[in-house]
Amino acid sequence: MLGNGSVHSSGTVVKNQPVRIAVIGTGYVGLVVAACFAEIGHTVISVDNDAAKIVDLRQGKVPFYEHFLPELLQRHYPCRLSFTTFLSDAVARSEAIFIAVGTPSLTNGEADISYVEQAAEEIADSINGYKVIVEKSTVPVSTCDSITSVLLRNGIRPEMFDVASNPEFLRAGTGVTDFLHPDRIIVGTESERAYATLELIYWPLTSGQYYKSLFSVQGGRSASCPVPLLRTSTKSAELLKHAANAFLATKISFINSVANVCDAVKADISEVAQGMGMDPSIGPGFLAAGLGYGGSSIPNHVRSLRAISSRTGVDFNLLDEVERINDVQQSSFLDKVELALGDLQGKKLGVLGLSFRGGTDDIRESPAMNVVRSLAAEGCVLTVYDPAAMENAQRVLPKGSIAFAENAYQVMDGADGLLVLTDWDEFVELDIREIKKRLGTPVVLDGRNIFDSSEMREMGFTYISVGRPVDVRLPSREIPSVGKHKMRAPLTMPSRSGAVT
Ligand code: NAD
Repeated sequence: MLGNGSVHSSGTVVKNQPVRIAVIGTGYVGLVVAACFAEIGHTVISVDNDAAKIVDLRQGKVPFYEHFLPELLQRHYPCRLSFTTFLSDAVARSEAIFIAVGTPSLTNGEADISYVEQAAEEIADSINGYKVIVEKSTVPVSTCDSITSVLLRNGIRPEMFDVASNPEFLRAGTGVTDFLHPDRIIVGTESERAYATLELIYWPLTSGQYYKSLFSVQGGRSASCPVPLLRTSTKSAELLKHAANAFLATKISFINSVANVCDAVKADISEVAQGMGMDPSIGPGFLAAGLGYGGSSIPNHVRSLRAISSRTGVDFNLLDEVERINDVQQSSFLDKVELALGDLQGKKLGVLGLSFRGGTDDIRESPAMNVVRSLAAEGCVLTVYDPAAMENAQRVLPKGSIAFAENAYQVMDGADGLLVLTDWDEFVELDIREIKKRLGTPVVLDGRNIFDSSEMREMGFTYISVGRPVDVRLPSREIPSVGKHKMRAPLTMPSRSGAVT
């Protein structure tokens, strides 16, 4: 698809020159990034210090759910994409080295950059010529300086390397499409040489060349509408990712608070959000009321920006409130479950959804998992189903009181109520007649507003969702500082790098 540098008929230089790239870390981000760089024509060595993972990847086993990723691995391994545990070898053979290791939260909210620094130490051991070292992990502002210090401390001369920041905005589950069809590419660097390398790496996307191929992964971008690239300072690039995610979290907590007002005054949040989103300065994204945000990125980045602002003496208490509203949203949902079903002890409940949102198997800081754990602790008998996250959930949920179903309908059989906790498309398409037939009592608590309220009521369900009119009286919608229901401690699980995320 992409050959060596060539010249357009117009005479302009075409920068479709393959670059030799190493990507350190084969998590949700590193593996997607490596496969996508190979897809746009580069030669990529993907490195992980987890040997079992590398063995699996060489056998074509993808360690997590990610749309299109198995196809890309099949397409490019072993030609343009290879896997290794030998970081030194990958560094020696590459011009650009992307660090995509985990950056979990420390107890003070700051991101732990020890894996990034460890990777920098290992890079320093293997440098054999000029390299561009690129932060792909989401790191606190000034991490670029820390990486530079590690290299200099290890005796690497400044002319042997540059450090750049290239934050990644992909979302787990749709990572491949997000990477190949992004809203923007951010390159933060003070070095012209590093910028030229990154410009070359992203040229197939910024020129639109990639989208001309018949075999390209389809998405929102095209040859006539390629991706804009924004060059910034390294510090701006580092801060930008945290700021963007903290803003999305704020939008979610804001709309959830508006939903609570809707509950109180019997307005409909779907209509309110639709009308708000039609204003281009607000936009329709992240205005879905529900159980709140989760995952590995948004919660970590809110905490991290909060920690950076505290450290620098900047008042950013808004973020504390964003987090508090998110926590209370889950306990308010438990209030609704109790309101609908009475005493929860011994209640038989069907649960749809465990991942933090639809389209991923990622259960890190998942509101759905928090609700399930809290209900199990209250003595409910739960049968759960998720299209992708069952294996991850089975590893961490308490044994005994929770059964795992093979499909969505199975959780409903004879249940006292059905809970929808994740917005999977598969759940939206369920036949509500079948749901009614299978439930012991026709009660549905929809934490993601996936069903049509009037249709559910016409079918005879007691249907309670978030911020949409209900027949039964709900408890005060004023957000209590502490929810009536105590949530279980937020779920933490070991990341692939061994740290707790
Ligand atoms: P992850 O924990 O799933 O994966 C990290 C991988 O790096 C692991 O496989 C680990 O074994 C490997 N690793 C750690 N140290 C290593 C070393 N020295 N040498 C080789 N391999 C090493 O992390 P992730 O979810 O892929 O996230 C990576 C970074 O990207 C984080 O900073 C995260 O905040 C950011 N990010 C994540 C997302 C997302 O949706 N998950 C999106 C955008 C950005």
